[in-house]
Amino acid sequence: MSIPATAPAAQTPVPLLDLKAQYEPIRTQILEAVTRVCDSQRFILGPETQALERELAAMLGVADAVGVSSGTDALLVAMMALGIGPGDEVITSTYSFFATAGCITRLGARPVLVDIDPVTYNIDPEGVARALTPRTRAILPVHLYGHCADMDALLPIATQAGVPVIEDACQSIGATWRGRQAGAMGVAGCFSFFPSKNLGAFGDGGLVTTQDPAFAAEIRLLRGHGAERRYYHDRVGGNFRLDELQAVILRVKAPHLSEWTAARRRNADRYRALFQAHGLSQVVLPVELAGAFHIYNQFVIRLPQRDAVKDHLQAQGIGCEVYYPVPFHLQQCFQDLGYKPGAFPESERAADESLALPIYGELTEAQLLHVVSAIAGFYEAARA
Ligand SMILES: *Cc1c(COP(=O)(O)O)cnc(C)c1O
Repeated sequence: MSIPATAPAAQTPVPLLDLKAQYEPIRTQILEAVTRVCDSQRFILGPETQALERELAAMLGVADAVGVSSGTDALLVAMMALGIGPGDEVITSTYSFFATAGCITRLGARPVLVDIDPVTYNIDPEGVARALTPRTRAILPVHLYGHCADMDALLPIATQAGVPVIEDACQSIGATWRGRQAGAMGVAGCFSFFPSKNLGAFGDGGLVTTQDPAFAAEIRLLRGHGAERRYYHDRVGGNFRLDELQAVILRVKAPHLSEWTAARRRNADRYRALFQAHGLSQVVLPVELAGAFHIYNQFVIRLPQRDAVKDHLQAQGIGCEVYYPVPFHLQQCFQDLGYKPGAFPESERAADESLALPIYGELTEAQLLHVVSAIAGFYEAARA
């Protein structure tokens, strides 16, 4: 392949995510499946949701899986099922998508925040051990970007403290840790089918996984306003249902997930080779720890002059994004938690230095080259 290092931007625009490229080869199957649901006119808690739940439980290695309305609602309903509320504390990472901490606060409980391990961007187990109090009611690690948190360290801490672990696996469907699947290690695993996740619906959707049949029954109860029998309410739940159109679309897409993940992993390897070939040693690449299987929902690098590089890439038609620019402890809405700037230095550094590059499976060699040569071009121009 002879793409010059200075290929003009117009030749190879690189969106951060290209859902159309994924949709194209499965379009006919999707439209047939959607038509099936439309013809049935059965939209809520029907056979497609049930079948999806069975299929995903088998795929994820769990006893049961319950379809819900979003990843956010998966977290919320899992904590509701554990009875978490006012006066309770839930330990989680300060560095994640907002929903992780937002759900704790919505239940009236207090998010107790912990810094990250700078290598994986996941919660630091020693920080978790230090954050335990008699009011701790759950530990909520996030498997960020597609790489599992250090569950070998976290699970014993939780067991010793007698508190459940809820896994925020929203970005990590199919990731594993020492052979165990994300979402199969804690009391509950929470997944999102937001379109940008590795298994994306055509709208919102989510899943709660569990090894405990009684816990699954409780989630099913709560997702339908706490009523086992219609209009007779055992609990105050909510409308946390997944709908049949999303379920049928996910049933078409789920069998492709492992091939899509393999493509993301190939792209990650290709990036590594290209960054090395360009001598970009100032760029820190994502790490896959021994015994972990990274599914690369995001390919997050760290680099000097991050904001300037971001502008430079965007000007060349290359999508990139900062996940996340503000850790929870510095968010306006969490000021009453009393954390100060500097409280979690690794998360603050990650917020300042990290940048997510396009990693979706359908990226072409020319697009990967364009991304890396654009970054190389930035540092060359800065040196000149
Ligand atoms: C996407 C995401 C969520 C929320 O999922 P939604 O389906 O968008 O509600 C929660 N936690 C993390 C880490 C996520 O990436």
